[in-house]
Amino acid sequence: RALVDAEAVGDERAVEAALRPRTLDELVGQERVREQLSLMLHAARRRGRTPDHVLLSGPPGLGKTTLAMIIAAEMTVPLRLTSGPAITHAGDLAAILSGLNEGDVLFVDEIHRMARPAEEMLYMAMEDFRVDVVVGKGPGATAIPLELPPFTLVGATTRAGLLPGPLRDRFGFTAHLEFYEPVELERIIRRSAGLLEAPVDDEGCAEIASRSRGTPRIANRLLRRVRDYAQVRADGTGTRAVARAALDLYEVDRSGLDRLDRAVLDALCRRFGGGPVGLSTLAVAVGEERETVEEVAEPFLVRSGFLARTPRGRVATRAAWTHLGLAPPQEPQM
Ligand code: ADP
Repeated sequence: RALVDAEAVGDERAVEAALRPRTLDELVGQERVREQLSLMLHAARRRGRTPDHVLLSGPPGLGKTTLAMIIAAEMTVPLRLTSGPAITHAGDLAAILSGLNEGDVLFVDEIHRMARPAEEMLYMAMEDFRVDVVVGKGPGATAIPLELPPFTLVGATTRAGLLPGPLRDRFGFTAHLEFYEPVELERIIRRSAGLLEAPVDDEGCAEIASRSRGTPRIANRLLRRVRDYAQVRADGTGTRAVARAALDLYEVDRSGLDRLDRAVLDALCRRFGGGPVGLSTLAVAVGEERETVEEVAEPFLVRSGFLARTPRGRVATRAAWTHLGLAPPQEPQM
């Protein structure tokens, strides 16, 4: 599954570091977010104050970490990185907060997964730049107030709706990142190809972009596979033909579907006449766990209009039949 996973796979973050845009100007797409952030940072610089806290929401691989790094770079301050799952006690957060210097940017990835008591500590830290650190247990426990220097919190979450209201309300600016258009992905791929010194022509970029699921992380990953193929099996240049051959070899098809995605559609159309069919039945047919089909394959199939979830079960759309090269039934379900 690794090729079309929007999360970083293995030690990919290290490889990605080289491709990360460092300034707002280098960032491709997300025009509105870029302009809004640029204005906000400019104003903060002019006033000599730390910028408001920023919440970034959106699916993985769209540039949340990159934006946090850019905010710190534009303010020329250090960035501290942590993540919600790493903060299991209020004490973990207190330790991080007490290590901050004035103006630092603190990036908390997956902020919705932070422990509850830490969340409450964060409310106060964000609003008043102080926290109460509780020392001891039971009746002898005492709260020691701790003043914090002003800092900027940048929180990232896959969905802003996952955050409790009080936390959400303490961000001065919220940006929602959307999936990228093919032309934007082409620009990202062209830029990355330049940095990797891997020649890819315009048609090659377009071919990779169309298979990248609207996600820069996946685009960069597919580019690396095309580069391998171009170097070993061709003359080094990623043309359309080379990109096609490479991505066909890795079983990422022209719409960005991988083997599991196609197996689900194939079972749905060929074995169940396009549905409706229950999730469990469909999962058995492709030899996968129910959760895998529902959480790994379905979201992208639904987003790209190949599959619909109905109260009676899963249904293949007309586009699914066409994609598989099959004739849709006379009276398609959808
Ligand atoms: P997230 O934190 O949302 O999971 P990242 O910021 O780690 O995503 O981005 C994943 C990869 O995609 C990085 O290597 C980054 O260089 C690239 N990327 C993301 N957004 C952009 C963009 N707008 N322009 C260029 N590259 C991008």
